[in-house]
Amino acid sequence: MGAIVVFTMLVAHWYGHVVVDRQEQGRQLRYSSNHDELTGIRSLHLFRKDYQTYQGMMRNDPTARLTLVMIDIDHFKQINDTYGHLTGNEVLISFARDIEAYLAAMPYFCGVYRTGGEEFSVFLYELTDEEAKVAVEAYVRRLRDLVVMRSHPERRITLSVGMARVPGMDEPLRQAIARTDAKLYEAKQGGRDRIVQ
Ligand code: GH3
Ligand code: MG
Ligand code: MG
Repeated sequence: MGAIVVFTMLVAHWYGHVVVDRQEQGRQLRYSSNHDELTGIRSLHLFRKDYQTYQGMMRNDPTARLTLVMIDIDHFKQINDTYGHLTGNEVLISFARDIEAYLAAMPYFCGVYRTGGEEFSVFLYELTDEEAKVAVEAYVRRLRDLVVMRSHPERRITLSVGMARVPGMDEPLRQAIARTDAKLYEAKQGGRDRIVQ
């Protein structure tokens, strides 16, 4: 009888471990698909998921506003070519963590995602066009002082930014991206280091 009780307890204990391991594995998988491996910020996968969440929020609140911001680091290839790929990586990490920390301190819903090599996207929720522009301009000013590589602390980066409001009418993400990307293209064509809304 005692042996059966001990055996049952052992099986239960082992089974408990299996369940916990599975949960842990699931958690790790979710984390790695939602986060960018290099910079640790939100991933393209989460960008797509969060867009659907924001669309759902706008369905419940038709007065809500969503702004998509697309950011591309200027002349990034030159950084790789001059200082090497690893320093390029360091720049991406410095920038990503800085803009993430900046946005985390903001009093509205927002998030930054790595959506390409040296391309990043931000969602700003509940801001007017003017407020959204002011927020992005404030970040760009802050970036002028950010050390992005330890080996050359004087070296700065600049951004080209396109931003556009997303209507709360279930606009497909690719359409919102196309509209915003056209603004980003304008910023590049206009000479870089600028924001086009
Ligand atoms: P532009 O001002 O027109 O945006 O010029 P650019 O040089 O920034 O743009 P381009 O598209 O010519 O080059 C982007 C470079 O980013 C090329 C690619 O090797 C580099 N890149 C992409 N992903 C990574 C990465 O994870 N690490 C590093 N170090 N470089 C990357
Ligand atoms: Mg690019
Ligand atoms: Mg670039």
